[in-house]
Amino acid sequence: MIEVRGLHKRFGAHTALRAVDLDVARGEVVVVIGPSGSGKSTLCRCLNRLESPDAGTVRIDGAELPAEGRALARLRADVGMVFQSFNLFHHKTILQNLTLAPMRVRGLSREEAERDARALLDRVGIGAQADKLPAQLSGGQQQRAAIARALAMRPKAMLFDEPTSALDPEMVGEVLDVMTGLAEDGMTMVVVTHEMGFARQVADRVVFMADGEIVESGTPSEFFASPTSDRARDFLGKVL
Ligand code: ADP
Ligand code: MG
Repeated sequence: MIEVRGLHKRFGAHTALRAVDLDVARGEVVVVIGPSGSGKSTLCRCLNRLESPDAGTVRIDGAELPAEGRALARLRADVGMVFQSFNLFHHKTILQNLTLAPMRVRGLSREEAERDARALLDRVGIGAQADKLPAQLSGGQQQRAAIARALAMRPKAMLFDEPTSALDPEMVGEVLDVMTGLAEDGMTMVVVTHEMGFARQVADRVVFMADGEIVESGTPSEFFASPTSDRARDFLGKVL
């Protein structure tokens, strides 16, 4: 579903990604871990071209991501993204947050978009919040709304960049539960997270990044039991 080849990204003199190759199969859940500054967010942002790479290619379901224009907007809709900060539209209701893009980009009627949106809000457990503004919801509810908003575009894959890092601890579980449900339903997912419990239980594969490179990659049981690189051992020593 996602095929990354030879991805390079520099910011001035700093190389954020070097020669990154990554394949994510349909229905696979890949958890990306690694120290701060290792390039995890840059990788996610290159996967839907919020950031343009200096070299390399990204293919989504066989189609190379175009540099710009309508074709990019269409392909970008295939890859839903959820950020640490929930990025909801503050002056729109939760329901409107979910219906705007499907009406504009997918051409749904308001009735279709609202029917979809209510079903998705029920699925993430916040159907009763549909007519509220984001600020009236808890952080965990806002992040679940952000996930539902991404799903409203019917993406082929979902990217999560530290989706629980900004949440109060008591709200982390409800967001991870929604993500676990999505994984069980077969969604293709790339998840950057420091939640090692989620990585162990839900990931099909764990990818460890350091200094802009994928240093190692394996099943959670392989990776956590016997990391092969010093950098991964050092990182796990700090987070586990
Ligand atoms: P991570 O998500 O793993 O913490 P990032 O992908 O955010 O890492 O960043 C990787 C490196 O690239 C860091 O050194 C960061 O400072 C740098 N970087 C990221 N985005 C920018 C930017 N827009 N401008 C300059 N440097 C950036
Ligand atoms: Mg980051």
